[in-house]
Amino acid sequence: MTKNQGSAYVVCGPTAVGKGTVLKEVFRKGANLWYSVSATTRPARPGEIDGKDYFFVSNQEFDELVNSGEMLEWAVVHKIHRYGTPRKPVEKAIAEGKIVILEVDLDGARQIRKTMPEVKQIFIAPPSWEELKARLIGRATECEEEQSRRLETAKIELEAQGEFDVVVVNESVADATEKILHILGISE
Ligand code: 5GP
Repeated sequence: MTKNQGSAYVVCGPTAVGKGTVLKEVFRKGANLWYSVSATTRPARPGEIDGKDYFFVSNQEFDELVNSGEMLEWAVVHKIHRYGTPRKPVEKAIAEGKIVILEVDLDGARQIRKTMPEVKQIFIAPPSWEELKARLIGRATECEEEQSRRLETAKIELEAQGEFDVVVVNESVADATEKILHILGISE
């Protein structure tokens, strides 16, 4: 990479592992970071903001983005909604020298591994399966059916953690944040 080219990192991890909380802290502490806002067909949760948390789009709008080659990667997550990474903003941020964070699921991570092999891939893992289940049930943002669907996906994702360049176990937010900042080459 040339001197003023940025870099990109994939961050993947199962549901309720605390990715959102850890990444929020990483962004609070690190400079020059840029978060790729994904497009999704999932409806917004209370408090989520269009254009900040996700671009909330219809099925038809998502189809158009895919068909016009606007998606860097996309996947059906938890067997229900589609999520994808808009290509142009990512390319622009990298060209501007930013440290780009791509939060994607396992399928998306695999696609990026093929198309952008230079991108380092980080997996955030829970301390244990029991802890993950407790966190998911404890946050109570999904109904029981959705919780079991998410746990099914989580099992598959945890089995694939060996594919990643580095695994960060989220024992505590502070510890996981520090580890990720270190991987990104940012010292506090
Ligand atoms: P949630 O519905 O909880 O916001 O996200 C569910 C899952 O979708 C998370 O595991 C997240 O990593 C994944 N996801 C979010 N954005 C993207 C994206 O742009 N592409 C892919 N492949 N997965 C995504």
